[in-house]
Amino acid sequence: MTLKPTVVQVVIDKPLAQGFDYLWDAEKLGKLPEIGNVVAVPFARSKVIGLVIKVSNHSDYELSKLKSVESLAPLPVFDPGLLRLMNFASQYYVHALGETILPVIPQMWKKADDWKKIPERLKLAAKKSKKRLDVISEGLITQDQLNPNQKVALNKLLGGAEKKEKQFRAILLQGQTGSGKTAVFLNWLASILNDESAQALLLVPEINLTPQLERRISAYFPDKKMAVLHSGVSEKKRGIAWYEAMTGKAQIILGTRLAALTPMPNLRVIVVDEEHDPSYKQQDGTRYSARDLAIWRAHDQKIPILLSSATPSLETWLAAQSGRYENIRLDQRAQGASLPNVHLINTRNPQNQFSPGDAGAPRQKSLITKTLGNAITKSLAEKKQSLILINRRGYAPVLSCSACNWLSKCTQCSTYTVMHKAGALSKRSVLNCHHCGLVKPIPQFCPDCGNADLKTLGHGTQKLEDAIEAMWPQARVLRVDTDSSRKSNGAEALFAQIHDGNVDIVVGTQMIAKGHDYQNIGLVAVLDADSRLYSADFRAAERLFAQLVQVAGRAGRSGTSGQTGGDIYIETQYPESPVFQYLLRHDVDGFLAFTANEREEAKLPPYSYQALIHAEGKSLDQAIRFLNELKARIKSRGMISRELKVYDPVPKPVMRIAGAERAQLLIESGNRKVLQEALEIIDQELRQESTGRISKTSRIRWLVERDPIAI
Ligand code: ADP
Ligand code: ZN
Ligand code: ZN
Repeated sequence: MTLKPTVVQVVIDKPLAQGFDYLWDAEKLGKLPEIGNVVAVPFARSKVIGLVIKVSNHSDYELSKLKSVESLAPLPVFDPGLLRLMNFASQYYVHALGETILPVIPQMWKKADDWKKIPERLKLAAKKSKKRLDVISEGLITQDQLNPNQKVALNKLLGGAEKKEKQFRAILLQGQTGSGKTAVFLNWLASILNDESAQALLLVPEINLTPQLERRISAYFPDKKMAVLHSGVSEKKRGIAWYEAMTGKAQIILGTRLAALTPMPNLRVIVVDEEHDPSYKQQDGTRYSARDLAIWRAHDQKIPILLSSATPSLETWLAAQSGRYENIRLDQRAQGASLPNVHLINTRNPQNQFSPGDAGAPRQKSLITKTLGNAITKSLAEKKQSLILINRRGYAPVLSCSACNWLSKCTQCSTYTVMHKAGALSKRSVLNCHHCGLVKPIPQFCPDCGNADLKTLGHGTQKLEDAIEAMWPQARVLRVDTDSSRKSNGAEALFAQIHDGNVDIVVGTQMIAKGHDYQNIGLVAVLDADSRLYSADFRAAERLFAQLVQVAGRAGRSGTSGQTGGDIYIETQYPESPVFQYLLRHDVDGFLAFTANEREEAKLPPYSYQALIHAEGKSLDQAIRFLNELKARIKSRGMISRELKVYDPVPKPVMRIAGAERAQLLIESGNRKVLQEALEIIDQELRQESTGRISKTSRIRWLVERDPIAI
């Protein structure tokens, strides 16, 4: 009797729709294959990592022509729940299964030649972690210490669990910044994690937010193993943390969007903190929304998911309003302080501006209005910290010639290069493109006319820092942006200076705005709100509103009952616009209801579904032609109907980046399924004439993106 050979189907990280068959030699590999095994296989004269998605005894190909699996990773299998999630993501985001799954595997596990050494490494790491001193923990608020509002919220969360053991629940925990949401959900997790095998997944939008939450979690769960997964963790640590999540050893998995795709055999609960944050959307590769996938995963695995925010996304808020999600509210600041007073400074009003001769007036035209200047002076006198936000790093967004029309354009992109002061990016001042990274010395003379008088236009964090140092020479000023955090010991070191009270005025980008629990900030100011108000993107106002509520939330957090919650000043030319008016009243629900109305009337998401087809090539013409031809084909197949709208291709907002010219085609439908089917057909059509995702005839690189968040 001849034994039937074992054949496995393996997917790899390539834009290929299908998997590949390989023979499995159980004797050589030491065991029989299982779905979810990570393996190394020969592929096109090299060796690649893949995942087993099928095991059988036959192949559609001639068995004698099949190659064999070379080696098997010393890893447990991917759990079936995760595999279902991956299958869904691959289909929904119209991306091959392999290129959706393989990127979740940390680098450490992608080097098959090192697999033999890994068990030894893991043993060493385990020894080390036993020796490790206790993590500094902080901020434990026990169940008994919760305020009455928080207790009600916690009881609602706990109450749901008694209903039925295994049940999907989606809960929106909505409450202003500082209302104690984190304290509530950590207490809730504590009850779920009483089960020694249960695993919890906690997602945060940004790596800068993990250290503080990490410390809080370790205060609540001193005995539990936590796996921290984000791009700021070293490859080795991440590889080990991922392994501990996958084996069920780590009970708490804390991480940014990629962590939503971690194998977790005993997943019992998911929390998505700041669920509205755009960072949950992956912007390359499989362009998934980690929040949306987390909700799908919870639904599929019949577990609860909690979405927490002070400014929920419109999608989530509507789901809670309609009763599809539970809605739990916390409407007061945990420590009793009231909300910050919002002040809108109309920059068109001369009364708000310095006049020459005013006390404290700066010599040059000020970046700061008189009204704000006076408020900062007062805040300094009261020994409160001030936080001043401007959404542009660098010294000035463009350099210009005072004699001709020369502007510092990037040679590679359709954008301007930003001037950076000496010391920020290099020893000298430079021009830097924030899109392609190009760095060039500042020209001494205008390259067009030879004029020596070159001027900066507009302002960024560095210019503002200079201006503030000049106006308040006695104040300690700290700049926080990606440049300064790269130079110091990372953002965490800068935040620590603020927390420790070693700073009077902080100047920074929105990096300082999110989530941080600063205790002594009395004043927050936003200088360039208008630039983000009028944008082609229909989500601009929603995003600005959320950001402003977040920054406002940094002020006056520690105040106790009856104390003011600090002040937020917004400089704008359009104080009457709805974003600012709703902010003035702290009316998050009002703003969301208003926005929902607007979207419904315009049939924009979430009242319709969208996808973008991206195209990039050597010239814009070619990219547009490629998309026009695609549109014609969609039309000739009779796919365009009242249910499916295909717009005309347009250049992208930033048309050229690093030499590639880019265009996009927007497709929209009121029906999710209609859109899904259309995208699948488009994907098939394009694949037939492409190698990977590059068209064979026109050399255009294309990509399908579902639910884009920036248009
Ligand atoms: P949120 O997540 O809504 O921003 P947090 O849970 O971070 O709110 O709470 C804000 C601040 O209030 C934190 O410093 C936290 O330690 C503190 N806090 C939360 N709940 C209480 C409570 N019941 N009593 C005292 N302080 C609390
Ligand atoms: Zn010139
Ligand atoms: Zn560039």
